[in-house]
Amino acid sequence: MATLVFGHTSPDTDTIVSAIALASFLDDAEACALGEPNKETAYVLEKFSLDTPRIIEKVAGQKVAIVDTTELSQLPSDIEQAEIERVVDHHRLGGLTTAAPVNVDVRPWGCTSTVVWSLFIDIFGRAVPKNIAGAMVCAILSDTVLFKSPTTTKYDRRAVEELASTAGIEDVEGLGMEMLKVKSSIADDSAADLVKRDYKDFDFNGKKVGIGQVELVELAMIDPKLDDLKAELQKLKTDGEYWGVIMLITDIMKEGSLVVAYTDDDAEVGRILGGELVNGQGWIDGIMSRKKQVAAPLAAEL
Ligand code: MN
Ligand code: MN
Repeated sequence: MATLVFGHTSPDTDTIVSAIALASFLDDAEACALGEPNKETAYVLEKFSLDTPRIIEKVAGQKVAIVDTTELSQLPSDIEQAEIERVVDHHRLGGLTTAAPVNVDVRPWGCTSTVVWSLFIDIFGRAVPKNIAGAMVCAILSDTVLFKSPTTTKYDRRAVEELASTAGIEDVEGLGMEMLKVKSSIADDSAADLVKRDYKDFDFNGKKVGIGQVELVELAMIDPKLDDLKAELQKLKTDGEYWGVIMLITDIMKEGSLVVAYTDDDAEVGRILGGELVNGQGWIDGIMSRKKQVAAPLAAEL
């Protein structure tokens, strides 16, 4: 029985590429996904001639390896009936528990693909295949927003340097910008698409909070869609019985985010995030990372 390797729901490039990379060096393993690849990921898979992972929902009774999350809310509902063999991640430890001992490789680095890269070298002593190396470069550039995110570490930079050389990529910056433009294009997306594009549910001390993020090369791109987006978030809050829904509209070049929030206490959320929310929105300089600059302080202070 093949080990199913997958990451979180609403998969991003790191989740899908890390699953592919990890599966490639485990024996008898298949990269899977808990949803369709987003536009950026589809571009990366196409560029490096990698197959789109099979989409799965149920994993009870299967052998599995999990990448890029340990949050139960971001995993299949029957995950605890699976045989978890391995976890590779770069987030806080979520609620996942296992019946048997398990290989766990979690580092506070910028990207799971960086951790997978270190496993290739340290544990498996194997070279990364060329096309997978190229996709891993993209995953790291994506998660670290071209090294601008405060989550970036020297390991992410070193991984990109080595993987780019393996993949024969000379213009890393150019590749990153090309990817960001693909990711940033929102012309064809509905407000609902934008909210779901990169959305995660959290439980902060009993408060259900959903946080989405859209990264743009220019904030003004959101203007024609902002009203629809707000209506969608309000609807989501009511329908999903959330304490709060928060959307980060990140301007990658200006290095900050427009925070749009519908919560039971906007003033408190604004204070925790180090800014001010007026009528449910506010620009906050420097906010690039949902994990480090939004989810972590909310988890600590809400
Ligand atoms: Mn991810
Ligand atoms: Mn990641």
